Order: sequence, then structure tokens, then C-alpha cells
Amino acid sequence: MNHPASAPAIGFLFDNSYARDLPGFYAAWKPEAVPAPVLLYLNQALADELALDLSTYDEAALAALFAGNRLPDGATPIAQAYAGHQFGQFSPQLGDGRALLIGEVIDRHGRRRDLAFKGSGRTPFSRRGDGKAAVGPMLREVLIGEAMHALGIPTTRALAVVGTGEQIRRERPLPGANLTRVAASHIRVGTFEFFARGAIEEVRLLADYTIARHDPALAGTANRYLAFLRAVTERQAALVAQWMLVGFIHGVMNTDNMSIAGETIDFGPCAFMEAYHPRTVFSSIDEQGRYAYRNQPAVAQWNLARLAETLLPLLADEQQEAVALATGVIDGFPERYRQHWLAGVRAKLGIPAGDAAADLALAEDWLGLLQQDKVDFTLAWRRLADAAEGRLAPLQALFTDHLALDAWLQRWQVRRAGDDEKAHAAAMRGANPWIIPRNHRVEEAVDAASDGDLAPFLALLAALQRPFEENPALARFAEPAPAAFTAAYQTFCGT
Ligand code: AMP
Ligand code: MG
Repeated sequence: MNHPASAPAIGFLFDNSYARDLPGFYAAWKPEAVPAPVLLYLNQALADELALDLSTYDEAALAALFAGNRLPDGATPIAQAYAGHQFGQFSPQLGDGRALLIGEVIDRHGRRRDLAFKGSGRTPFSRRGDGKAAVGPMLREVLIGEAMHALGIPTTRALAVVGTGEQIRRERPLPGANLTRVAASHIRVGTFEFFARGAIEEVRLLADYTIARHDPALAGTANRYLAFLRAVTERQAALVAQWMLVGFIHGVMNTDNMSIAGETIDFGPCAFMEAYHPRTVFSSIDEQGRYAYRNQPAVAQWNLARLAETLLPLLADEQQEAVALATGVIDGFPERYRQHWLAGVRAKLGIPAGDAAADLALAEDWLGLLQQDKVDFTLAWRRLADAAEGRLAPLQALFTDHLALDAWLQRWQVRRAGDDEKAHAAAMRGANPWIIPRNHRVEEAVDAASDGDLAPFLALLAALQRPFEENPALARFAEPAPAAFTAAYQTFCGT
């Protein structure tokens, strides 16, 4: 299954290391041709970053390209094998059921990036699925990925979306789409789980490949697998802290949806919190609230423990020693998470590093106030920045319990950094977005796009590009959803 190094390609300089170096870890496969491809979205800035030269493609050629009807030279499309714990239950064989990795390119910063299709038809891993995706959810993935990126949070991103001209069968017929996704890699915790069931040499091969790709400084060092586990743990601690600080709820944190590279990935049913409540959950299938907002750090740690289990034979000859080493890393997760969250929350509060316990208490008491008064999470932080400039009224207007708010504000004033109020407020605004992808706006945009009107999608996408800048012309995107909308709001995955 060795693939020859790719020939010089028109516009795409592929170097497909996964297909080349990991034979047997995937099925070589082809996208299904689609009847009438129409380009719905192209992320030109991302194409530039990836050094993709699309100048020779006209619109029809781009549509054929990103539909999978005409693959670029040098592509080696493969369906990657992986397993995963879904809602705590182990599924030994998942894999790319509706996705294909088409190749890797080196971007302008020298970083290796995967290009993958989502919605490109059935594969050997499709089980009962049709291998397809719908326009709405794929454009939703564009919006959320670009929003996360603009917020400075590591994430997979969409390069293109093509309408396929097919109707796909869901609860009702929906227009089909194929999305081209860009990722640091598509190696998941579940990828390790898949190969951990076989020979230990397979896990070693995968681990060495992954280390070379994501943690090259560790390659060849003693105890590199333990250091690798620590590095993955660190990335997840940092990532989930960033999610929590913007109110992002991934929605389906199964181990197959956790990237070893530490990017946000497979956020199908994700949603942003509106009024603050730690138990917030939107996913229709998450009946127990396993992946509710407040559970995300603990779930990340649980998932990392599943990764650690796959690495045990590589950590030490003695099982007991391997378990002790792995446990040391996994047990360290809550503290690593706390450090990242604390650093982030200090920036949001606009306070310098001080006594950790006192700063945590200040932050948690603030969140307690938000919860008690059902205050919009995003707006509250933003108006706290106004308060830093002495404009208290907009903040007070969000609360009913003014006594409690004033008492907290007095504690906060004592801890605030610097005496230049304007600079202080500006710094806080840089840590507290004004615009997040509000659920009602996302649904509105995605529904219109499914009916053929892309204007609301494009308007929302533009608004999400500069989340920290307040622009009165974009005020409708900063407004919370009506409470009744949020109360009834449900998201779906695999759609
Ligand atoms: P998800 O929870 O959406 O990340 O997907 C879990 C698993 O289901 C993965 O193996 C996917 O490839 C597979 N899957 C999801 N939707 C489909 C579909 N429409 N057809 C085939 N496989 C799918
Ligand atoms: Mg997935």
C-alpha cells in the first residue's frame, strides 16, 4: 500500500505522509462523484495560507475540485481507521464513514496541514450511514470554525463547501454538500484506541508518526511516549480552558472527536452558552448531560485516560510501573487545566496574577452572580470592561441583584491592574469577545442557506471575523437570543 511521492501538482503541493508512512492504517478510497456541484463557499484567506494556487481554476472547476469530482494531482484519498468511546461506550470500529483525507500540504508557516472531505460518500467504515452531509450543517461548521479561529482558539477550519445537487435523506430531504476541512491532523484519541487492540508495534508506529508530526522535539528522546502523553494532555488542558472562557460547548466529546493535535474538531452539535449556567447542554442526544458545559474538563481528562491506556505497553516493561507513570500525567490534568483557566480568567477580569485561591474565588463568585441572575455570559464580561472605564450602568442593567453586584465590584476594584482606565478597559475587551456565533443567528443563516439564500450566512461570517471589535453596524449579531429560543434550542450531530 505504499504510495509513490506525489508528482508536482497544479496548485497543490501534496506530501501525503499518513498514506505513505502508515500503510494498513486506512483504506484507499475514492469520493463519490456528485451530479451538479456548485461552489457555496471558498475560504480564500485560508487557501492563501496553505499556499494553494487556485488561479487556474474557474468557478466550475473549483466546484468540481471541492466536490471530489476532479481530484487535484497528487491526492491520495484515504478513509482513516479509528475507534472511539461514544458516551462512555467503546465502539471498536468507527473510522471515516463519510470523510476522506485527500492529502497533506505544507502551509506558508511550514506547518503540515491535512485536507479532508466530509460528505464525500460511503466508505468501508460507513456502517449504516449514507456517507453524505447536508448544506446546513456544513455551513454551520464553517461559521463555528471561523469564529473559533477569530477568537484565537485552535480549531479545524473549512476551506470550501460545495452543494452537490443531490437531495439527501434525513428527517426530511435536504440539499447535500461536501466540505473540505483543514486540520493539523486527523489523528484522534480514537485512532490510538483502534490500533491498541492489535499488535503493540502498530501503536508504536502510530505514536512515532504522531510524535514526529506534532511533537518533533520529543522524537528519539528517552521516555518519549510518556512525554508525548504529557504534551497531548497539556494541549487539551489549554484548549478546554479556552472553550470554557468563551462559553463554548462542544456537544459530543467522544474520544473519536478529540484531536491529538489539540484542535477543536467534529463540533457538529456544538453551541455557545447564552445565559450562564454550568449545566447548559444543547445536544438532543445528550440526555444525561455528559457533555454539558461544566463537565468538559472532566470529560477531557477521562478521554486522555483512554489515550494513556493505549500507550501503556510503550511506557514501561512492567505493567505496574507503566500504570503509575500514566496515572501521574492524567492525575495532573486538573491542575494544568486550572492554570490555563486561571490565566485566561485573570485576563478577562483584567487583574494581574495574585494569590491563586483568592483570584479563583473572585472569578467563581462573579460566575455565581451571573448564574443567579441568568445573565448573558458574553455580554456580562464585555460590560465589565465598560465598568473598568467607570461606565457602570450597562453592566448594572444586566442584573437584578444590585447589592450583590456592588459588593463583588468592590472586591474587583481592589484587584484591578494599572491606573490608566482606558488602556485597562481596552485590554479587557481584547480578552472578552463582543461577538460570538449566537445560536439564533447561526440557525437563521444556515436555514436561509439551505433554502438557497446565502446572504445571511455571509453577513454572519463577516461579523464573526472580528469578535473583539465593537461595531454598531453589527449590533444585531451581538444581541443574545430571546430566552424562549434558547430554552427550546436543540442541536443534532451526524446530520
Ligand atoms: P460523529 O459523532 O459525527 O463524529 O461521527 C461518529 C461516526 O459516525 C464516525 O465514524 C463517522 O464517520 C460516522 N458517521 C457520521 N455520519 C455518517 C454518515 N452520514 N454516513 C456514514 N458515517 C457517518
Ligand atoms: Mg467524529
